[in-house]
Amino acid sequence: MEVKLLSHTPDVEAHVARAAKLCYSDSTIEELIKREDVKEAGAFIQKLISMGHDSPLEHVSFSFGVEGISRVTSHQLVRHRIASYSQQSQRYVNLADTFDYIVPKSIQGNRPAYEEYTRLMEVTHEIYKALLDNDIPAEDARYVLPNATETKIMITMNARALLHFFKVRGCNRAQHEIRNMAYLMLLECKDVAPLLFKGAGPGCVSGECGEGKMSCGEAKEVRAKYEALDESEVVGTQLDETA
Ligand SMILES: Cc1cc2nc3c(=O)[nH]c(=O)nc-3n(C[C@H](O)[C@H](O)[C@H](O)COP(=O)(O)OP(=O)(O)OC[C@H]3O[C@@H](n4cnc5c(N)ncnc54)[C@H](O)[C@@H]3O)c2cc1C
Repeated sequence: MEVKLLSHTPDVEAHVARAAKLCYSDSTIEELIKREDVKEAGAFIQKLISMGHDSPLEHVSFSFGVEGISRVTSHQLVRHRIASYSQQSQRYVNLADTFDYIVPKSIQGNRPAYEEYTRLMEVTHEIYKALLDNDIPAEDARYVLPNATETKIMITMNARALLHFFKVRGCNRAQHEIRNMAYLMLLECKDVAPLLFKGAGPGCVSGECGEGKMSCGEAKEVRAKYEALDESEVVGTQLDETA
């Protein structure tokens, strides 16, 4: 899996602070833009988030390029509606020569399961190509392709939507592939806006676990892992080895 932050609103944290200061100030917008104190925005942004005054976070956006994820994960991803997506098409891109698929670690580590899995992928690919050879259009041949099929997607989300995404998809209750993707996206965000994303992550990082009986029971360990990120100066280079 490869997750790359492609672009973001310039001057992210100052921009959020400006939007929030506007709510409480009699300054003109031009005066606000010139104010230097928004550069010291960290504590102010943390206060906004703790108060639930979240709308200023919607003024900054982040675009990611993600490759090497399965359609299992992209399907879960696009359930998040406050975002924009552009995904490689299986109508316009014929996978006859480039059919790649994701193998979950549970299957990679289980020899008989791995053999069955890869056998099915090979047969599926053969049938897909046979359909194309029989003049079936790619948009119909794709019906045989599995959830495991690898895909590429561009994602744009604002900071408020991202914080929500990290909360639900960073949680140990989320599936490992999307959890890993959320984790890598968060590392990218922390790199460019460490104050805005300080304390971001699953719900148990900033408060109590909300999962009740379904809790993983590892809130302490999860919190420690995410708090360590906030203390690190090299967050952009770390990978989640646990997924
Ligand atoms: C562990 C886990 C298990 C899941 N299991 C299943 C499952 O078995 N089956 C299944 O179908 N889905 C499942 N989901 C998907 C889940 O139900 C959500 O669709 C998905 O996580 C998107 O979350 P969201 O709606 O909060 O986010 P977004 O679409 O990003 O929305 C963000 C927030 O905006 C608000 N919002 C957005 N749209 C509306 C709206 N129409 N009305 C009111 N408020 C809105 C809500 O406050 C929402 O939380 C699962 C998710 C997780 C994390």
